[in-house]
Amino acid sequence: MDKVKKQIDTLREVLRNHNYNYYVLDKPTITDYEFDCKLKELQGLEKKYPEFFDPNSPTQRVGGSVTKNFETIVHEHRMYSLDNSYSKEDLQNWEARIKKLVDGEIQYTCELKYDGASISLTYENGKLLRAVTRGDGFQGDDVTANIKTINSVPLQLQGDYPDKFHIRGEIVLPFAGFNKMNEERIEIGEEPYRNPRNTASGSLKLQDSAEVAKRPLECLLYNITGTRLGLKSQYESLQKARAWGFKVPDAAKLANSIEEVLEFVMYWDEQRHHLPYETDGVVIKVNSLQQQEELGYTAKAPRWAMAYKFKAERVSTRLHSITYQVGRTGAITPVANLEPVELAGTTVKRASLHNADQIEKLDVRVGDEVYVEKGGEIIPKILGVDLTKRPLHSEPTKYIEHCPECATELVRNDGEAQHYCPNESDCKPQVIGRIQHFISRKAMDIDGLGGETVALLVNEGLIKNYSDLYELTKEQVMPLERMAEKSADNLIKGIEKSKAIPFERVLFALGIRYVGETVAKKLAKHYKNILAIAEASKEDLVNVDEIGVKIAESVCDFFNSEKNNHNIERLRRFGVQLELSADVLQNQTEKLKGEVVVVSGVFESVSRNELKKLIEDNGGKVSSSISSKTSYIVAGSNMGPSKKEKADRLNILLINEYEFLQKIE
Ligand code: AMP
Ligand code: ZN
Repeated sequence: MDKVKKQIDTLREVLRNHNYNYYVLDKPTITDYEFDCKLKELQGLEKKYPEFFDPNSPTQRVGGSVTKNFETIVHEHRMYSLDNSYSKEDLQNWEARIKKLVDGEIQYTCELKYDGASISLTYENGKLLRAVTRGDGFQGDDVTANIKTINSVPLQLQGDYPDKFHIRGEIVLPFAGFNKMNEERIEIGEEPYRNPRNTASGSLKLQDSAEVAKRPLECLLYNITGTRLGLKSQYESLQKARAWGFKVPDAAKLANSIEEVLEFVMYWDEQRHHLPYETDGVVIKVNSLQQQEELGYTAKAPRWAMAYKFKAERVSTRLHSITYQVGRTGAITPVANLEPVELAGTTVKRASLHNADQIEKLDVRVGDEVYVEKGGEIIPKILGVDLTKRPLHSEPTKYIEHCPECATELVRNDGEAQHYCPNESDCKPQVIGRIQHFISRKAMDIDGLGGETVALLVNEGLIKNYSDLYELTKEQVMPLERMAEKSADNLIKGIEKSKAIPFERVLFALGIRYVGETVAKKLAKHYKNILAIAEASKEDLVNVDEIGVKIAESVCDFFNSEKNNHNIERLRRFGVQLELSADVLQNQTEKLKGEVVVVSGVFESVSRNELKKLIEDNGGKVSSSISSKTSYIVAGSNMGPSKKEKADRLNILLINEYEFLQKIE
């Protein structure tokens, strides 16, 4: 028995090595035929001795398991997006911003931005434990079975890897493999795939992993996360990842200034056309992990990283007509309907024209030949007009004056670019859009109710605003199109369940202009219940951390409306949460009221984020820079020298984490 086990282990090891040489290093040392023979031998042994099964054996790469529903996994570390830059000035502004927040010289790591589907891999004791898609950044789908089939994903690591860590990367489909797949599809009479990126991300969600195994996908890695990994810089992380067996492209380079970053950008803007896979830019990261930690994150993206987007491709095509869309907030967006044209791998039929000013500035007219560009956004935009091709009797575009949906006269507030339809309560797209926002995942997250059903409910006259949802009955919804007993049940249950959604999300769900998730959280925490917010004056609101005049005015406007108050009153009657729950309140104190605290350095017993939360939960305010207003600094080890100097100069007290924790005991 022992002999068999040994034979199996040796074969696995040998195959793993060849796999690595072939797919990660691109340097095979044996022929495909020899590889297949060894693989068959291993398969034979594993079949004969099933007791030695190993989910990470090289034989598992051929796939074969079928997943009906992918399990949702909450990311241990959120997967953020990246801020974009398009010019030297953008990068210089970014550098100026971050230099205010960290001490010392800043070095950058420049990497290529691979255009595929992002993935987070978790390794424990050197073995691939799990692979999860990015999803909404907070949670994604467990696609481990599919990822295992990708040959460049190591199932077993080599070298001195940490016990546990996550590594992020991008699943891409190289052009060669993509073209080959398409040739095969055309041969069997199927539509070819549109572009490598969508095909790569579609592959991750295929139910049959054997199908995924057939696709020549690759996994390129770029970021390690975890605790106590002993890593000091991004560049070092990349080298380590490579040493452990991951495929990390060797384009990455260190830069000592924005000038050097730009050299990298310019070089790759040319050279990218020779790469085997798609890139849409460069990602620039602050190299020092300690500086990264000091910089932290905005609500959307790390402050320590920046994407630089290559200039997109542009084409010209005919503008057939301009139509106008009404959004959830009543904002009007003009849309250009175009003669379909191929652009960066997709067919473009529509483009955004943004607003009346934009149309006027570009002097875009129906019948014009226009230049279209596809940047990072899904909807491409119009850059200008080819005047040499303008038809003879063309007329300047006249912007609409009335709402295309409800015929109400449009308004345009001073200083705003967008036109609005003011008919909030009766303009269909606004009514529907507001309820769709209310039920969405980050708001009330109503299971069993989707955007289309909302539209149906409104169109059938069953609901007119979100508070009406709570009076819906099964009997009312059953007759709707595509409804069955079960789905009607689920819908009603989902609505019932939403009554437990916490206050800050309800506040976000209300759809007050400019009150996004983060602002809603701030307001909820500060005022604790909706009545207090409704009664707050503009001046009062502006005093809340991070609430500006625009938001304050919008909040006041919202609560000045009788209709809105009536709706909220109804929500209250139905049992929707309109105040912070007792257990949230319990952890909140006023112990640090009026104190402005700066957190700096590295801590032993708590993370920086935990510290910040503790400060806020106890009524204090966290500030990122030292000033005469700073009450004291919670200082860990490695506090930057210039911060220290400033604290001394302004005579500001430094306390350590334990002294701080004692304060709030
Ligand atoms: P975006 O989706 O445009 O906000 O860009 C963020 C995405 O870029 C991330 O979610 C990653 O999937 C992807 N990405 C590609 N290459 C890199 C890289 N080298 N470093 C970080 N992110 C990258
Ligand atoms: Zn309207």
